[in-house]
Amino acid sequence: MDVQFLGGAGEIGRSAVLIDESLLLDFGMLTDSPPQFPVRTPSPDAVVVSHGHLDHVGTIPALVSGDARPPIHWTPPTYELAMTLARDTLKLHGGTVNCPFTETNVRRVTQVSETHGYRESFEAAGYEVTFYNAGHIPGSAHVLVDDGDTRLLYTGDFHTDDQRLVSGTTARPDADAVICESTYSDVDHDPRDTVEGRFVESVETTLWEGGTVVVPAFAIGRTQEMLLICEAHDIPCYVDGMGKQVTEMLGQYPEFVRDADALQRAKSHARFVTGKDGQRKRITDQKAAIVTTSGMLSGGPAMTYIPEIRGNPMNRITMTGYQVEGTPGRDLIETGRAEIDGRIMPVSARVEQYDFSAHADRDGLLEYLDSYRDTPVLVNHGDRCEAFAATLREDGYDAAAPELGATVTV
Ligand SMILES: [Zn+2]
Repeated sequence: MDVQFLGGAGEIGRSAVLIDESLLLDFGMLTDSPPQFPVRTPSPDAVVVSHGHLDHVGTIPALVSGDARPPIHWTPPTYELAMTLARDTLKLHGGTVNCPFTETNVRRVTQVSETHGYRESFEAAGYEVTFYNAGHIPGSAHVLVDDGDTRLLYTGDFHTDDQRLVSGTTARPDADAVICESTYSDVDHDPRDTVEGRFVESVETTLWEGGTVVVPAFAIGRTQEMLLICEAHDIPCYVDGMGKQVTEMLGQYPEFVRDADALQRAKSHARFVTGKDGQRKRITDQKAAIVTTSGMLSGGPAMTYIPEIRGNPMNRITMTGYQVEGTPGRDLIETGRAEIDGRIMPVSARVEQYDFSAHADRDGLLEYLDSYRDTPVLVNHGDRCEAFAATLREDGYDAAAPELGATVTV
């Protein structure tokens, strides 16, 4: 098998792996200004997608332009999330060089889509392909590709620990080569219940003192995790932004979440913000948690909430994930001020950060790879891929970190 890394090698974003010029795994977008896409657009015979995050599906509609109509294989939630993200990209960048596809392309995706559950093998471009639950977000999958001779395992993004929304990965299918993500290869997460405990205490204290908590959260996965936590601890909450429709959608796929009843309860517990008649400004003094996009304060309804609550030190802003350098969320944590909706604003409200990661940390990655001690490992999807590959080599693995554009034979 010839494996070419068209994106996501030595970086996070625009993941794309091409096998024998024929089978494409993921085709993502790197969110930046301007956004970046895989180094080239191939003409694959089939496409297989690991999960519905922008850095894995963001450029998919560009693959069905001209006469090209490769079938696209994914789980049902991944398909739905890809369509939601594609429409959002059209809204943000449609008709500009920052959007490599059109509305017609997005419609065509629906015609070539083929959905599959976990552990149901299917044929794609002549390969036998199987999805296994990767425990990252609902519908996320490890992808096993078998050409009858070689079995390649593409881990996609994964988590080894349970989250409230999805259970951690337990699947370790036999493989002859592994492409492994390494997002947090140099990080040790605190145990999830510790992080959750600190978050809940902070929110409860703030509400008890009469303040409001704005909880910036990514729409896919993180928003639902926050709603599940609010329900479990009976914290009054609102939900706003793209996370609302994602929450509704996931309710239709109970088999892809850890506890469908809990998600249903969380949905009923949260009040969905319509944004009508100045509702957003009105709810900022309701002594509640407001879970809203965007997770790094770069847009979304958070642009209304932050200016409203920033002046009162009794209020809090609780970031719920990693903040990329240069984003308003990162600036706010580091300097106490940030550019919100085009204006630099000092913030007196308390700003905190909680690590609700959906990725395996260093120990999780090593625990996962322990099942592949005698298997060559190709490290991708990280800022320090080579360093992690070197760590693995010291530990006796046959490991490498291919560069962007490189082809490796496995
Ligand atoms: Zn992801």
